[in-house]
Amino acid sequence: MKEIRPGVWFVEGENHGRYPFAHSLFIDGEDSLLIDTGVGPALESLVPKTRQVVLSHFHRDHVARNHLFTGARFAIHQADAPGVENAEKFYHFSGLSQFNIETYWKMVSQIKFMPTSIDRYLEDGDLIDTGKHTLKVLHLPGHTPGHCGYLFEEYGFVFATDIDLTAFGPWYGNPVSDLEQFRASIRKLRELKPELIATGHSMPIAKGIDSKLAAYEEVLDHRDQKILNALKVKPLTLEQLTDKKFIYKKHNGQEVLRYFEEQMVRKHLESLVKRKMAVVSTAGLYSTNN
Ligand SMILES: [Zn+2]
Repeated sequence: MKEIRPGVWFVEGENHGRYPFAHSLFIDGEDSLLIDTGVGPALESLVPKTRQVVLSHFHRDHVARNHLFTGARFAIHQADAPGVENAEKFYHFSGLSQFNIETYWKMVSQIKFMPTSIDRYLEDGDLIDTGKHTLKVLHLPGHTPGHCGYLFEEYGFVFATDIDLTAFGPWYGNPVSDLEQFRASIRKLRELKPELIATGHSMPIAKGIDSKLAAYEEVLDHRDQKILNALKVKPLTLEQLTDKKFIYKKHNGQEVLRYFEEQMVRKHLESLVKRKMAVVSTAGLYSTNN
């Protein structure tokens, strides 16, 4: 654990916080608080110290060790709550219901779904008090519908969770993910002009934050462009575009990764059609609009 601001500790996830792990924050106070539980087995030492657990969103790499915190109260944005409360909802939100899920959990070394009971449903602007610090809920949807960051106004510090600033770029591969909302959330974050930012999968950043956020947003434009460039050569279906592996580079024969790629490509296509940059035929063939 590293104290990045007085009383605010960055808890580094296993394997540098790469999936299926994620970084957490621990905040001191009488009502001490942990954001997310995806760090790995090392999180066990924080169980006796933690009074409340606030979750950034429903993804398993952020909630994997909820079950350890039996004495803590749990909070999550209301839009993502069903994804941790109910297995059926989780599979529906994630799109994983169609796969052999035991194989998938094994493949990603992930702890399988265990329901969490939620004590508080959050909304944008809600305040969470630890007795020492007050955090403000920043609803940053797109990655998931209820994805949240947390703002420490006194420090100009934002924990932006899965607006994660990694080289892999924005991820919106669930059926409930939304590309345009993701873009708007990156902009909302930029407008706050944070002085310090940490995410679920990258180390805290104090320099060049705005340019990093701008570059992260530009990844979305680059993906649009890759799709348009392919469509300029010849009209293609969603399936053919998915085969080009613009996002994942390789699917390694993993049908789940291919599915996530398809979901993301689909969202780009819908956005391009909406912006009249592409058209789609009744046979599902996409082409550029010129
Ligand atoms: Zn996530």
